[in-house]
Amino acid sequence: MRRGVLTTILVILAFGGFGLLLWANARPGTSSGVIVIPTLQAPTDDPESWQAILQAGFGSNATPLPTIGISTQAFVPPTLALVAADSTLAPLAPVQVGGGQPTLNAVVTATRPAPTAALLATDSLVTAQVVTRPPADWNPPPLIPPISRDPLGRDHYWFSRPVDSNATNFALFSYAFGSDGPQQENPWRVHHGIDMPNPIGQTVRAAGSGTVVWAGPGFQDSPSYGNVVFIRHDFGYNGQPLFTLYAHLANVFVSAGQIVNAEDPIGLVGNTGRVSGPHVHFEVRVGGDRYGDTYNPLLWMVSYVGHGAIAGRVMGPRGDLLQDQTVTIRDFRTGLVVQSTTTYIFLDNGSDVNSDPLWQETFVVGDIPVGRYEVITNIDGLRVSELVDVSEGMTSFVELALTQQEIPELTPTAGS
Ligand SMILES: [Zn+2]
Repeated sequence: MRRGVLTTILVILAFGGFGLLLWANARPGTSSGVIVIPTLQAPTDDPESWQAILQAGFGSNATPLPTIGISTQAFVPPTLALVAADSTLAPLAPVQVGGGQPTLNAVVTATRPAPTAALLATDSLVTAQVVTRPPADWNPPPLIPPISRDPLGRDHYWFSRPVDSNATNFALFSYAFGSDGPQQENPWRVHHGIDMPNPIGQTVRAAGSGTVVWAGPGFQDSPSYGNVVFIRHDFGYNGQPLFTLYAHLANVFVSAGQIVNAEDPIGLVGNTGRVSGPHVHFEVRVGGDRYGDTYNPLLWMVSYVGHGAIAGRVMGPRGDLLQDQTVTIRDFRTGLVVQSTTTYIFLDNGSDVNSDPLWQETFVVGDIPVGRYEVITNIDGLRVSELVDVSEGMTSFVELALTQQEIPELTPTAGS
């Protein structure tokens, strides 16, 4: 009997406790109520989820319809002949960029250096040989800009990509921002943007919302840009204006003064200006609209799901920034080289490229899958490397320098 009573008490306690729990959770207005987490498709690195998202229509199929009037019926696929006939496209008048700001004309006359042979060098040699990754049939879905996943808020991945996910929308490694191209003996002009090689006619989209300040040829008196769309964004960075530039376009869909939303079609990939192959040249300008206000777009363009970026710099034995220095990124797990780049070249004139005000980097590699990497360079004949962990949607910073033990060996006599 005693055991029976004990069992009954235990059963009552168990059910009673459970009931109490249900009652507590069901009570409206209590601070300990159940938090309902919305079932949004949160970014995940689970490939099955990507598949699910793609099957649900994510990607190019889900690209929003153009929100500005484009007469698609009247559109004729651009040809080289059509594009070359610049006389048919009268240059648009420069537009005042906000109150008190210099006009584009003023900027051109005041700060652009006289063209030199180097400045007029071919912008980019885009051939099948230098495209080190095949055009993307598929990419993971981009994260949703604007994002700054860094707990300290250091990143500013505020722009979407200027071309669709199924286009080639990564920066050509061989002509990285701040580099002078792959040939030592025949250097190109230091690159103020990134190049995305794509066939003529690929849609180019606004990287963020804003107002078009230039649309057409002759941007800032530079024939090498071809047809340009230049947007002043309706958001800024630390109180400074932000601009994006899209060059070498075949066709331009917008006009100066027009307001655009992020991802609105603004033109088509072309090969106008000084190019040897069709691509979109993409720039980010911060604080001003001049050539010397360009910053690395890879620190402004949102990552793909499961990807991040590495920014860093290479220091010489005397603490100097080493320029035009090859940096190799090696997957620590597989041992395979995933990317290589070179550090920025500074010309010490008003047309220099710029390091991010916070990171002070001299190289960036983007679109790196989350994981651990060895970042390698060679300083005065010594192999120098650091391990870096890449996190999703974030910048990981690395500084490559000789250790204190290595430095004296390299400088046996003072002042040598
Ligand atoms: Zn370019």
